[in-house]
Amino acid sequence: MRTFNYVRADSIEHAITYHSQSDSAFFLAGGTTLLDLVKLDVMRPVQVIDVNHLSLKQISPLDDGRVRIGALVSNTALAHDELIRTHYPVLSQALLSGATTQLRNKATTAGNVMQRVRCDYFRDGVSPCNKREPGSGCSAIEGQNRSVHAVLGTSDQCIATHPSDMCVAMAAIGATVQVQGPKGVREIDFLDFHLLPGATPSKEHALLPDEMITHVVLDAPLANSRSGYLKLRDRASYQFALASSAVIIVLDGNTVRDARIAMGGVGTKPWRAMAAEQSLKNAQLTPEALAKAAAIALQGAVPYGHNAYKIPLGRQAIIRNLETLTA
Ligand SMILES: Cc1cc2nc3c(=O)[nH]c(=O)nc-3n(C[C@H](O)[C@H](O)[C@H](O)COP(=O)(O)OP(=O)(O)OC[C@H]3O[C@@H](n4cnc5c(N)ncnc54)[C@H](O)[C@@H]3O)c2cc1C
Ligand code: SF4
Repeated sequence: MRTFNYVRADSIEHAITYHSQSDSAFFLAGGTTLLDLVKLDVMRPVQVIDVNHLSLKQISPLDDGRVRIGALVSNTALAHDELIRTHYPVLSQALLSGATTQLRNKATTAGNVMQRVRCDYFRDGVSPCNKREPGSGCSAIEGQNRSVHAVLGTSDQCIATHPSDMCVAMAAIGATVQVQGPKGVREIDFLDFHLLPGATPSKEHALLPDEMITHVVLDAPLANSRSGYLKLRDRASYQFALASSAVIIVLDGNTVRDARIAMGGVGTKPWRAMAAEQSLKNAQLTPEALAKAAAIALQGAVPYGHNAYKIPLGRQAIIRNLETLTA
């Protein structure tokens, strides 16, 4: 294993300053992605900045109805928080569907947003992989691409899915990522935070060098809504999504007044399906309307070798979630 410098930051400003001291600096939160990939020699930090002692562990309701989550709130704390369970059940369910209890106890909100792809060619450290080694090629396009490879948002450079469950729920709810860097504080719309692979799959997010995530702020919950997360996977626990859906819906009798839909396991980023939402608005709750919305959500999907099944599975993840929520 390679050696690296370890420092413990005692303020956000210190963390950012330490980060600027190396081109290969990484913040250490729960370590469940970072240390894994260091051991696999995929991430090669020169400087590791431990941010665990910063005061970023609060979940706070804001006056305008939004909720602010500190970067270091653990996935367990967030999932079991009363405010989240009551007003954002979709987020609580998504978090609890991820990983295992032990991992969720360590994993943090910012770390989850920043987690890396689970593509085996990325993680083996040697196969051609444009994300790990720009310009080397993509082994997955003609290779093993059944489970953690996408059908939406792909490019001829990379087809890996974004693996997070939490982020799918946040994409449906609507959120803002608050970041701080040497030039101050700024906000990034959650839907703009993760980038499509395009021609530069090694650039995964909108964070600038030396910027740190300090909070994620959830939009106010939709009044009179119900919500849920459905994750379809090879195994019932300790497994990433093959396809998942986060759905928030507002009903007036049998009429859909509002809907939010996001998908996981099928897209190269947490995938918000706005056209599908639009098709449901003011529609009668019929099997045909649900099927139409699901079909729209997967429109334009491109299968690769072994993952064509994700197109009908993704549609079904939406239909079944909607059926359960509206039963
Ligand atoms: C076996 C296993 C199974 C898993 N299953 C699932 C699953 O089913 N669903 C799911 O969603 N996830 C799953 N995960 C992923 C897990 O949720 C993530 O590893 C975790 O959320 C990362 O959080 P962390 O705090 O440990 O991040 P770390 O490992 O500490 O950091 C991850 C990355 O984020 C950066 N970072 C950390 N904090 C900040 C910050 N404040 N600002 C900017 N950058 C920051 C780090 O530098 C690093 O690059 C699994 C992981 C494992 C190991
Ligand atoms: S899908 Fe992306 S992460 Fe996987 S090998 Fe191709 S470039 Fe690398």
